[in-house]
Amino acid sequence: MVTGRGRGTPRIGVLALQGDFEAHARALGEAGAEAVPVRLPAHLEGLAGLVIPGGESSALLKLAARDGMYEALSAFVWTMPVFGTCAGCILLARRVLRPEQRSLGVLDATVERNAYGRQIDSAILETPTALPGGPLEAVYIRAPRIAVIGPGVEVLAERDGDPVLVRQGRLLAATFHPELSADRRVHRLFIDIAAGAGRGAERAA
Ligand code: GLN
Repeated sequence: MVTGRGRGTPRIGVLALQGDFEAHARALGEAGAEAVPVRLPAHLEGLAGLVIPGGESSALLKLAARDGMYEALSAFVWTMPVFGTCAGCILLARRVLRPEQRSLGVLDATVERNAYGRQIDSAILETPTALPGGPLEAVYIRAPRIAVIGPGVEVLAERDGDPVLVRQGRLLAATFHPELSADRRVHRLFIDIAAGAGRGAERAA
């Protein structure tokens, strides 16, 4: 699954325990990064950032309980650029509801799981965004809802008044799946953050 251009290109890990990590790796490659699968703590070494993909957050938590992966992720997310999509956003949030669930707790947000209905209610919506270039296509699959955000969290896109793409310094989180659309703006933003060249990218959140 290693994609990308080699030397001088940021190496971005994609947590490859469960979920749609292959699509993220492709998207990162298209957006100008080298994507590296992360299955073990040692795979986090030397990365410029990490994507935690969508999937099933409870299953991700179970798989991460092996091999010291949860502890390694816990350390990584407090110092490094991380982009969580859907289940990945749930894992990053400080508080998870419906049901309450353990999380890495680094993103100052409360997230409700499966908040927009059942699988059949998943949707593709045009979403206005603060990113330059017009609305984003947003693919929602049993999406969580970001119900509360702290003052340090910037909203980059909304769905019916709920934040769906947020940034907290070096952290980026989406309740939708940008890797499933052709538009690479969100991945490019994360690569810029990871490379330290994002809009006002601070290393500390
Ligand atoms: N419903 C899933 C969860 O609660 C997230 C869905 C997704 O990542 N597409 O973890």
